[in-house]
Amino acid sequence: MVPFECRCCWHVWEEEYLVRHVEDRHGNDSEVWFAAGLRVPPPWQGAVCPQCGSQQTTTFPDGYLSRHPELFPPLGPVVPDPTPLISPVRKPAY
Ligand SMILES: [Zn+2]
Repeated sequence: MVPFECRCCWHVWEEEYLVRHVEDRHGNDSEVWFAAGLRVPPPWQGAVCPQCGSQQTTTFPDGYLSRHPELFPPLGPVVPDPTPLISPVRKPAY
């Protein structure tokens, strides 16, 4: 499971991926990502927010969400966040 966060609406969700490590004919190790049986780009290259459709998404480091369960809001109506969408620039984990 790869956790994502949308930088537009701060929606947090997870998607299930399968990662295969493959070696090309030059001996370079690379990763091939599958979601629902289909080959997809790596999640940090273009995940789309299921809530607002934005492509401004970011991923969390492995295990991050298990240490931050508060990031998963309880199910229910989404309350708009009145605070401006200003956040420190988050460095990618990769
Ligand atoms: Zn969003």
